[in-house]
Amino acid sequence: MSKQKSAESTLAFWQQTAEQTLSNAATQLFIDGDYVDSVDGGRFDSANPANRETIAAMSAANEKDVDRAVAAAKAAFRSGAWSNMAPRDRMQILYRFASLIEENTHQLAVLDTLDMGKPISDMLNVDIPACVETIQFMAEYIDKMEGSVTNTSADVMHYVLREPIGVVGAISPWNYPLLMAVWKIAPALAAGNTVVLKPAEQAPLSCLKLGELFIEAGGPAGVLNIINGIGEVAGRALALHNDVDKVTFTGSTEVGKLMLQYAGQSNMKRVSLECGGKSPQVFMADVGDLDGAVAGAYNGIYANMGEVCNAGSRILVDRPIYDAFVEQFIAAGQHAYVPGNPLDPATTLGPLVTDEAQNRVLSFIESGKKEGAKLKFGGDAPDINGSYINPTLFTDVSNTMRIAREEIFGPVASIMPFDGIDEAIAIANDTIYGLAAGVWTQDIGQAHRLIKEIEAGIIWVNSFDEGDMTQPFGGYKQSGNARDKCIESILSYTQSKSAWIRL
Ligand code: NAD
Repeated sequence: MSKQKSAESTLAFWQQTAEQTLSNAATQLFIDGDYVDSVDGGRFDSANPANRETIAAMSAANEKDVDRAVAAAKAAFRSGAWSNMAPRDRMQILYRFASLIEENTHQLAVLDTLDMGKPISDMLNVDIPACVETIQFMAEYIDKMEGSVTNTSADVMHYVLREPIGVVGAISPWNYPLLMAVWKIAPALAAGNTVVLKPAEQAPLSCLKLGELFIEAGGPAGVLNIINGIGEVAGRALALHNDVDKVTFTGSTEVGKLMLQYAGQSNMKRVSLECGGKSPQVFMADVGDLDGAVAGAYNGIYANMGEVCNAGSRILVDRPIYDAFVEQFIAAGQHAYVPGNPLDPATTLGPLVTDEAQNRVLSFIESGKKEGAKLKFGGDAPDINGSYINPTLFTDVSNTMRIAREEIFGPVASIMPFDGIDEAIAIANDTIYGLAAGVWTQDIGQAHRLIKEIEAGIIWVNSFDEGDMTQPFGGYKQSGNARDKCIESILSYTQSKSAWIRL
């Protein structure tokens, strides 16, 4: 191992990187290519959930700041500096943008780890590489995006153009702060739009850096603006703004519904929603490799502290393998994720994002106990400073219990038995959500039936939470109406224009 690599495997290295990065971190708003204070000077604090210390006082955008940012984005769009740029030039800027993110991996990674508690190793191995890949994928498509000439009457020439929509307001969550923002801004920018991004107030630091890197990559001022602020103020003003042409949102179903209202109350802007989930994982009796399947179950709920929209939080197990499954889950899953300092590269389980989130998860655990589910392990907070929750397992869960119906957003697994495939499908679909599902069976016929009949946007078979950029990511039902990643995503930031020419 090189000296540098071995340093990177120590907690001391990341503590030092964190200190240096924080001391230089920007905290203002990024509008029209510059850092600026909010008009009224408002600020809000960002805290580190691993030790509850305040780490930054961020400028808080209000309605006037949203107006400024949207005006900058609108002027940049109208100028054509970005939307009319030669496709390959736009592509080069986005490639450079992706490279700069890669070059700033350490700084960006520690900012998310400090802000929301995600283990540094996840940032380095998952989030940052995925951000780079997303921007590259969207950039690659810029000069492949085609309109069409349609087959129509001989005395008519009809063609269809794909054009950017205009100003995109992007509102993102805190569970993958950088990545969820990049899933929005990369396709929006690649399609030629200009953007105002409002990151989640729980994790505001890393996204702010994106604006600066975009300018460094050669992006024109005003094309990418980043405003931190409180959801009910800045997010609301952005989604209600009459000069925002599309709002793209990732977050809770509750706030997703507000986005539809805001659009209706203002200019009928397009609304793309990526919302919550309560994903089932169905383990049929012929699961084959039980140990591998059980690992798929606990990784599917404990990774990222369970703060994952598509977390496999409902684990449905066929009665003949139920006891063996539970036994293996306890043996292998109980200590698979151990709470620790998220800056330590060995840590796999950080704190939850805030004390409020910790209390919310504890209250779900109480309701599970009250409603008669059996607590097999966890169910409490470890005795360390920070908003941690121990990995928790409930068995004998019924789909009517609160822990099976509502999104917990914590490391709480619920195992429930079923009798045969018909009941599995009925339970899987008995939810308002439809983001994803896992299906485990060796029978190809059963697999196809489950794929067809489970109401979800993503179905993994004999795996869970895998994928690449070609995979549409998004939900059925109240999990939303958008698809991130994939070509469908970039096309959703365009609109078609029909040119009907009488010859
Ligand atoms: P949230 O809905 O509380 O907040 C999301 C964003 O909306 C934040 O930027 C917030 O400031 C803003 N916001 C909050 N209230 C608002 C309002 N009244 N008006 C306008 N904006 C407002 O969600 P969260 O807690 O940040 O994130 C967790 C949720 O996100 C979970 O439900 C999770 O499932 C979901 N999520 C979904 C996906 C997906 O792809 N489907 C991905 C990640 C997270």
